[in-house]
Amino acid sequence: MQDKPYLRQYPDPSGHFGPFGGSDVPPDIARECARIQEAYLTIGNSYDFVSQLRDIRRHFQGRPTPVYYAKRLTDSIGGGRIYLKREDLNHTGAHKLNHCMGEALLASYLGKKKLIAETGAGQHGVALATAAAYFGMECEIHMGEVDIAKQHPNVIRMEVLGASVVPVTRGQATLKEAVDSAFEAWLADPEDSLYAIGSVVGPHPFPMMVRDFQAVVGVEAKAQFHDMMGVLPDNVVACVGGGSNAAGMFSAFIEEPCQLYAVEPLGTGPELGQHAASLMYGHVGDIHGFHTMVLTGEDGGPAPVYSVASGLDYPGVGPEHAYLHSSGRLNAVGATDDQTIRAFYALSRLEGIIPALESAHAVAYAMELARQKPHESILVNLSGRGDKDVDFVYEKYPPAEWA
Ligand SMILES: *Cc1c(COP(=O)(O)O)cnc(C)c1O
Repeated sequence: MQDKPYLRQYPDPSGHFGPFGGSDVPPDIARECARIQEAYLTIGNSYDFVSQLRDIRRHFQGRPTPVYYAKRLTDSIGGGRIYLKREDLNHTGAHKLNHCMGEALLASYLGKKKLIAETGAGQHGVALATAAAYFGMECEIHMGEVDIAKQHPNVIRMEVLGASVVPVTRGQATLKEAVDSAFEAWLADPEDSLYAIGSVVGPHPFPMMVRDFQAVVGVEAKAQFHDMMGVLPDNVVACVGGGSNAAGMFSAFIEEPCQLYAVEPLGTGPELGQHAASLMYGHVGDIHGFHTMVLTGEDGGPAPVYSVASGLDYPGVGPEHAYLHSSGRLNAVGATDDQTIRAFYALSRLEGIIPALESAHAVAYAMELARQKPHESILVNLSGRGDKDVDFVYEKYPPAEWA
């Protein structure tokens, strides 16, 4: 018997989930992280903070998002029942706003004037720019030049929302360099700015804070599912890039008798560079200041990764998922690009819901699971909507050949 519930026990005070997590960063970053941790543990748990965040969730974000029984999708398989937690209906069309509003509210309590972050595909940048506009703060998003060219619509959205997008030209000019650049900008002005990370990754306290802000997804879904069915779901499924939408969803079910499935992007094949499945193919290692499962290349550094869903192509994974997987609590599974595209079209055509390509990974695995477990229920976190992906899919995987 544990004397404390799981969420109070993990992470431990040093930010560890078993052997994973922690903080291995230069002293000046460590000092700022310690300040954020202290502020979060006091302010973040105060009555005023919690009730203000609840108010924002309801009136600005449009929460609670519904849980929906996907009957036509279920019938098309003839197997287990598939239910969707509709994070695609959260304001801005994905779950990322859940932690961005929490981080921005904390920044406003601390009197900060500016939010700083990096972004890869631009989704985190858009969510943070939205939060900054809500709170009347400046927002500075660091983005690799290569990504800026690829993700033009998101760059425009950030600028419309009033954020400034800082092009990063060093190195490969993608996400990794953008992280370094964002950290430097934060350290140059730690009094007035707050670094707002985009997933359950990075040094302590970020994986804990982001999980806690995302926990609203699991809390809602658990109550909603129980309301609908009188029992809890047998299986809970979420896609994993860094792992924030999964961490929020799983948090309510870790101590329940439910099977948990983290769906990783299997891309085009099992060779290094063809996928981004850190739990399935990675090794214990360090990335961005924390200890976790990492896909490493020949030089020992982070390997090149690939997924049709740009929000999933990260060569590491949140430390909590690494821990839950290593302890046997979490199943690491995958969906290939092809399975994902089929799920994308299936959900669009059978349910009238166009999913984000990231979320379509979770749907693809749920469809597989429904075949394997015909008498069970499957709750899927539909992390986001696919408006951002339709042009790309239509072009590269035309419906005439794929739907
Ligand atoms: C960014 C993103 C993800 C992946 O991030 P996690 O931190 O793993 O949740 C998944 N779905 C959508 C819609 C995203 O935008």
